[in-house]
Amino acid sequence: MSEYLGVEVNIASNDPEHLEWLQAAAEGRLVLQQCEACRHLRYPVGNACPFCTSLDWEWSEVSGKGTIYSYGQVMHPIHPAYREHGSYAIILVELDEQREYPTADDGLRLISSLVDAEGNPEPESRVQIGARVEVEFADLGDGLGLPRFRLSGEAPEGEVWSLPS
Ligand SMILES: [Zn+2]
Repeated sequence: MSEYLGVEVNIASNDPEHLEWLQAAAEGRLVLQQCEACRHLRYPVGNACPFCTSLDWEWSEVSGKGTIYSYGQVMHPIHPAYREHGSYAIILVELDEQREYPTADDGLRLISSLVDAEGNPEPESRVQIGARVEVEFADLGDGLGLPRFRLSGEAPEGEVWSLPS
C-alpha cells in the first residue's frame, strides 16, 4: 500500500498517466508530458495537449529546478494528516524549463510542498516568492513517489517577497 502522511494513496485504474508520474517520482525522476505534435511540455497531468489538443505525448524528464512563483499559507489544516504540522505552505513552483513560453505569462508551474532536509514543512519565515528550489521525492511505498521541493540555496534572480508577518 502506498501512503503519504499516514493517508492511503489510491490511483484509479483508468488513470495510467498519474500512476506513471508517481512511479517516475519513486525512481527519483520528475517527468512531464511533452506533446508529440507541438513539443510543449505541460502540467498538470492529463490526456490532451492544452496548446494544440493533440492526444499524442511522451514523458520527458525535467531538471526539477525552479523558482517559487507564488504560495499560500494554510493556517488551519483541514485534513487530519497535517494535524502534526500545524501551519504549512502550499507553493506554486515555476520550473526553469519552458519559462515565458508560449507567451510571456506562461510557464510550467506545479503546486507542491516546501520541505526541509527531514521532509517536514518549512516554516512560513523561509517561504518566499522568488526563492530558488529543487525537487526532492517522498517515498510513498509500493513503487510510488511524490515530488516535493526544498530550498536549493541558489541566489534568487531578483528580489524575494513574502507575506508580512
Ligand atoms: Zn501540443
